[in-house]
Amino acid sequence: MISVDQALEKVLENVAVLGVEESPILSCLGQVLAEDIFSTIDIPPMDNSAMDGYAVRSADTRGASHKSPRILRVIDTVAAGAASQSRVEPGTAIRIMTGAPIPEGADGVVRFEDTDESERQGIPTEIGVLIEVAPGAEIRQAGEDIAAGSLVLSRGTRLRASEVGVLASLGCSKVKVICRPVVAILATGDEIADITQPLSGGKIYNSNSYSLAALAQHYGAVPKILGIASDNEDSLMDKLGSGRDADILITSGGVSLGDYDVVREVLEKEGEIIFWRVREKPGKPLVFGLLKGRSKTGEAKNTPFFGLAGNPVSAMVNFELFARPAILKMMGRKNLTKPTVQAVVEDAIENTDGRRVFTRVFVEKRGDGYFARLTGPQGSGILTSMALANGLAIVPEDKPGVEPGDVVEVMMLDWSEDVE
Ligand code: AMP
Ligand code: MG
Repeated sequence: MISVDQALEKVLENVAVLGVEESPILSCLGQVLAEDIFSTIDIPPMDNSAMDGYAVRSADTRGASHKSPRILRVIDTVAAGAASQSRVEPGTAIRIMTGAPIPEGADGVVRFEDTDESERQGIPTEIGVLIEVAPGAEIRQAGEDIAAGSLVLSRGTRLRASEVGVLASLGCSKVKVICRPVVAILATGDEIADITQPLSGGKIYNSNSYSLAALAQHYGAVPKILGIASDNEDSLMDKLGSGRDADILITSGGVSLGDYDVVREVLEKEGEIIFWRVREKPGKPLVFGLLKGRSKTGEAKNTPFFGLAGNPVSAMVNFELFARPAILKMMGRKNLTKPTVQAVVEDAIENTDGRRVFTRVFVEKRGDGYFARLTGPQGSGILTSMALANGLAIVPEDKPGVEPGDVVEVMMLDWSEDVE
């Protein structure tokens, strides 16, 4: 049986970065840029005012103070989006709003608060400047954020909200990015019922397809739910058919040693098994391999295939450990590991048979440290204990367990506002 680390290495050896697509910027959130983006424009495009106030010649304000205001004649008002046709000559000023272009002749802006405007009626024809204005004061210079011709975002950058905003500021409506993998998901088991149907005797609802599809979507992939296969090869082959052009295939259930566990046989016949069984808990019976598939254009290809154990927690944990890094690698991401913290455990965790144990915990920050408590019974069928968790505490293979007060590494599943 191979270790978690060896298994991950084999998974990553067998997945490759996907091709490139061009998409509208908003649908590229989380994708990796496949081209360098240069600006064709200056941002801001022209010198403009950073404040509401008066555009002046700084020389005209020399020596100005509250006691000795410099009086200037107001010759025009200019709003953002407009441009003044007038020129600021000595002894004059133009009233200006934030974002409006600096009029010719002016080399600084004085804020309303630093004039006597509030003491005057309506729009004044004359204004008293109460401070000395330095050359360039309150002027945002053309190109100060981005200069025309400069490299703004490089190939390999992951697009977050701020990058989407930068692209929009350049007038860039579409960009080339690395594709999102399509992840086909198939549930197996004669006992599994579709969630839209009434539940009859002996059946349980198909939760795995939904938790796995939600994880796939969360990490940037496109899930494709293939439905539910019965525990026989024909049914499995039939249902897998519509997922053969996917970038990744995931099944849940049918990988143990039971009489009806047929997933491995199908993978052996229709492809190649790379490993089966990993020294971990939960999720030991994981099978990984390559299934013969077809690309969208009809060519033969090998599709990475994860046969996850059926228990809902095992399926989710193995997705996090193995399918997630595969998806991220395909999307061109460089960092494939989840963040971890060192936390003090508040409950004991046993490790009875030398596997790497992943225990559902809730991590809290108190003072300077992190503390982790178990989220309840740890049976691999107890999905609510996964819902209550924000991390997986890791007990290494060579440790018989941990006691309350010991420090463990916790892989954070959510690193969000609820960890305070
Ligand atoms: P298996 O790995 O096929 O032996 O399945 C183990 C257990 O996981 C089954 O007894 C079911 O209770 C559960 N299970 C399997 N598939 C699903 C599914 N799609 N949704 C929810 N539970 C499942
Ligand atoms: Mg089964």
